Amino acid sequence: MELLAGNKPVSQLIDRFGRIHDYLRISVTDRCNLRCTYCMPVEGVDWKPSGLLLETEEIVRVARLMAEMGVKKIRLTGGEPTTRKDLPLLVSRLVEVPGIEKVCLTTNGVLFSKYAQDLKRAGLSSVNISLDSLNRENFIRIARRDLLTSVLKSLNSALECDYQQVKLNMVVMAGINEHEMTDFVELARTKPVNVRFIEYMPFKGNRWDPFGVVTYNEMRSRLEARYDLRALPDTFISNRVAEDFMIPGFLGKVSFIASMSNSFCSTCSRLRLTADGALKACLFFPAQVHLRESLRANQSDEVIRRLIADAVLSKPKGHPDPSELEQLNDLSMIEIGG
Ligand code: SAM
Ligand code: SF4
Repeated sequence: MELLAGNKPVSQLIDRFGRIHDYLRISVTDRCNLRCTYCMPVEGVDWKPSGLLLETEEIVRVARLMAEMGVKKIRLTGGEPTTRKDLPLLVSRLVEVPGIEKVCLTTNGVLFSKYAQDLKRAGLSSVNISLDSLNRENFIRIARRDLLTSVLKSLNSALECDYQQVKLNMVVMAGINEHEMTDFVELARTKPVNVRFIEYMPFKGNRWDPFGVVTYNEMRSRLEARYDLRALPDTFISNRVAEDFMIPGFLGKVSFIASMSNSFCSTCSRLRLTADGALKACLFFPAQVHLRESLRANQSDEVIRRLIADAVLSKPKGHPDPSELEQLNDLSMIEIGG
C-alpha cells in the first residue's frame, strides 16, 4: 500500500481483497448505564482505568489521519457514548476534520434527550437509538434497568431536533421480544423514524445460541403477512448493510440487518477504534494494531498512518460460521461498540 507521494497521502485504505474503507466507528467509552443481556457478559466487564482510554485530541488526531486516507463517515458509539462528558465537544471537533462528511451517533437513549440540542448544534448528523422493547417489564428484563421512559423521551427529542435521520435499532431475539416487532412497525406509522430489525449476534460472554436468532427471512415474512412492505430503490443492488422498505401511508420506514444469515463481509467498508485505542479491522477478529502508545509517544503522522494501513491489511476476507464467532472474539460487544 503506497501511502505517501512527497508529503501528501494519496492512498485510500484498500485491503488485500480490494475493499475500500471509508467508515470509522469510534467507541468513546467502555462504560454503560444499561446492562443489556445480549451485549454485556453475565460476569460483567472490568471497566478500563480512565487513563487508558483515548482523550479527545487523540481521537481527533486518528480521525484526521484516517480522513486523509479516505474515511468520510464517523459513527460514535460505546459503551454508552452519552456517558462521556465532553461528547458535544468531541462531535464539534470531528465535524471540523477536513474530509469528514458525516458524524453520527449510536446511543441507548437513556441520557440522549439531555444532549439532543447540544449535539445537533455541535454538528451531529443523525442518531441511532437502540431499543429492544416497548413494554416496561420486558425492557427491564433485557436491559436490566427500569429506564424505558427515558429512552422514549430521547426518541421524541431526536425527532424534534430535526436530525437528518433517526433510526431505532431493535435486536430481535426468539422468545424474548420477537412478539413486539409489529409494535415497533406501528411507531413508523406516525413518526418519521427508520425502525431497524437486527439479527442477534454472538459475542464473548453473551450466551448466544442459534435458537435465539430470528433470521431476516423469518422477520420479513412475518411482517409481510401483515404489512405491504415495498423495497426502496437500491435496497438490493447497493452494498448497503440494511435492506430498506417503505409501507404505503407510513411516515417512517422499516429495515432489516441480516448480519448472521447474509453476511456483508464482501463489501465491508468499516474500521473500528475501541475506547482504549485498538484498531479493529473486523468486528469478530481480535485487533492486530493498538494506537494508544504510539499516540502518547508522540510518534509521527507517518508512523501512525503505517499502523492504520497495517490494520487494514490484516483484515480477513470474512468471518467464519456463527457457531465459532463467540470464541473468536476477544472482546464483548459492549467493549467494541457494535
Ligand atoms: N450503548 C449504545 C447503544 O446501545 O446503542 C452503543 C453501543 S451498542 C454495543 C451498539 C449497538 O450494538 C446497539 O444497537 C446494540 O443493540 C447492538 N448490539 C449489541 N449486542 C448485540 C448483539 N449480540 N447482536 C446484535 N446487535 C448487538
Ligand atoms: Fe450498553 Fe448499548 Fe450494550 Fe446495552 S447494547 S449494554 S446500552 S453498550
